Amino acid sequence: MVRRKVIAGNWKMHKTPEESTFFVENLLRKSLNTEIVDVILCVPFTSLAQVSEMLENEPVGWGAQNMHWEEAGAFTGEISPTMLQSTGCEFVILGHSERRQYYAETDETVGNKVRSALEHTLKPIVCIGESLDQREAGKVEEILDRQLSGAFAGLKKEQLETVTIAYEPVWAIGTGVNATPDQAVEAHQFIREWLDTSFGDGTGEATTVLYGGSMKPANAESLLEHAAIDGGLIGGASLQADSFSELVSIAAGVS
Ligand code: PEP
Repeated sequence: MVRRKVIAGNWKMHKTPEESTFFVENLLRKSLNTEIVDVILCVPFTSLAQVSEMLENEPVGWGAQNMHWEEAGAFTGEISPTMLQSTGCEFVILGHSERRQYYAETDETVGNKVRSALEHTLKPIVCIGESLDQREAGKVEEILDRQLSGAFAGLKKEQLETVTIAYEPVWAIGTGVNATPDQAVEAHQFIREWLDTSFGDGTGEATTVLYGGSMKPANAESLLEHAAIDGGLIGGASLQADSFSELVSIAAGVS
């Protein structure tokens, strides 16, 4: 099976609607190779309406960076899956390590969110990855196993069809230190084997697995050239249209 490369931006808490407009206008002026690469922007909630209007008829997908699993309720400050659906967005990042670290998200709440997103036809981009301490203690597979088990608890194989997994070692996020291609490929292979064991042969091969953690134009080719790495979830380098579109070109070049 040939999986398409994916370049997904995670803007985190950056860009007002006005700055988002400026970025999207710039991005759409570039030649984006969207016939061979899937391009996605995950933007702040406050930019979803803006971005949705601008990208509605463009070959670029968009999404949010978090959501609650309930449709409505007394959850001050939260956004529900139905609210996301109403903006027309297709994707939602779930379980990002910054959410796990600063907002006490657990494997169980990530699982609630993944099931809810799928019930609301939103496509989850599920983030997993170990900390430096965990890697140094030889616990990478144990941590990935625990996070995968939580995120995908109670799902059936066919529900995984629209799920993307992002392997994002915590020590590589925003640090400028990316995982080596060997480290990333090894983790991706573990994830695919876990999917086969848990959901049946072929699930791993059918699932898109991205790498995230300080991916930028200077190191992207060495990661993206591996068939096991289907693309990148990009933080810092997704904030400028130049570097983001360069990453798309690099992904196209190795496709
Ligand atoms: C991320 O936040 O998902 C990420 C990978 O960030 P960065 O590219 O800045 O390391």
